[in-house]
Amino acid sequence: MGGETAPGPDGRFGAFGGRYVPETLVAALEELETAWRDARADPGFGTELDACLRDFVGRPTAFTCAPRLSAQAGGAMIWLKREDLAHTGAHKINNTVGQVLLAKRMGKTRIIAETGAGQHGVATATACARYGLACEVYMGAEDARRQSLNVFRMKLLGARVHQVDSGSRTLKDATNEAMRDWMGSVGDTHYILGSVVGPHPFPTIVRELQSVIGVECRAQCLDVLGRLPDTVIACVGGGSNAAGIFAPFVEDQDVRLVGVEAGGEGNEPGQHAAPLTFGSPGVLHGSLSYVLQDEEGQTGDVHSCSAGLDYPGVGPEHAHWKDSGRVQYLVVDDAEALNAFQDLSRLEGIIPALETAHAIAASIRMAAEMPAEANLVLNCSGRGDKDVQEVMRLLES
Ligand SMILES: *Cc1c(COP(=O)(O)O)cnc(C)c1O
Repeated sequence: MGGETAPGPDGRFGAFGGRYVPETLVAALEELETAWRDARADPGFGTELDACLRDFVGRPTAFTCAPRLSAQAGGAMIWLKREDLAHTGAHKINNTVGQVLLAKRMGKTRIIAETGAGQHGVATATACARYGLACEVYMGAEDARRQSLNVFRMKLLGARVHQVDSGSRTLKDATNEAMRDWMGSVGDTHYILGSVVGPHPFPTIVRELQSVIGVECRAQCLDVLGRLPDTVIACVGGGSNAAGIFAPFVEDQDVRLVGVEAGGEGNEPGQHAAPLTFGSPGVLHGSLSYVLQDEEGQTGDVHSCSAGLDYPGVGPEHAHWKDSGRVQYLVVDDAEALNAFQDLSRLEGIIPALETAHAIAASIRMAAEMPAEANLVLNCSGRGDKDVQEVMRLLES
């Protein structure tokens, strides 16, 4: 069973990953790969990153028992890894501070990023403000309209927001535009991808930066439970919070790993955002992975109540974990996620992100089938402040 946490020399996880990009970007990706390897080998970089994670991000994040949620589920004890307590309210900041420190090391003075709902844009603008780098964020015009508060947050943080008017005016188009910018600006610019997607070495860099979640969590389990957990569950959009908590457990074959995709409103094309469950291998944004696509290979439409899961692709390492059987993937639909959102709020005093609510629903389901002495860890990827208005609308409709 393949559970390796390093890609092969050509940047592949099994058959997946790689580098499907225009020639002009290959040199930039090679420069990035070398810079990342050097940074990882330099204790000074590790010390600086650790200090930032502690003093700015607020790590380590808490490991919280959820006894009332567990009692309602009836079965295993559910534990929460509290990424909602990280600065800016989700795990995304772990990646952006790491890549900003890397960019500074590479002598880059300008950062670009793509964003869908704006969460990655805000986390990038935050890290850039902290370290004094110029920041420009590409966002689909339709997304910018729907998420005007995040556009304003980015501006407060000193970033410039470019609204993209091409295509469906959403994340896919913003990503294309950011790639185009980078092709002409690699000399002074670093592109911060927001999840474990894109061409090699991005999936590896983002997973290694997010692995701080799993490294802390594994130590907290050994400390608090006296042993490893039986099951670890996380939601999967691009797959970065899941890869971050899974990676340090991959070699522990007795720990069951479960990724949860957005089931949306049904199993028909366009109704969900679950490429690992309903998609097929294809190339999207520079790497080979599972993609939602039609017979002609056109990227499919997606739907989820949570903006952070609303993406037609998924990181290549997840594709490999799926095919090797190391991680099990399932779907939770909008309605079940909405119920879980309310359950965690009412029973534990924690309002989760709608993305996280998908993993909560799956945890309730799975805990019910496990014995009382078992332990299930749920990655609480973010807080729900950003979603309360949308949930109010969904509950009233
Ligand atoms: C962005 C986001 C996700 C989805 O992204 P991944 O890369 O799959 O982790 C999940 N939860 C929250 C709170 C997010 O902001």
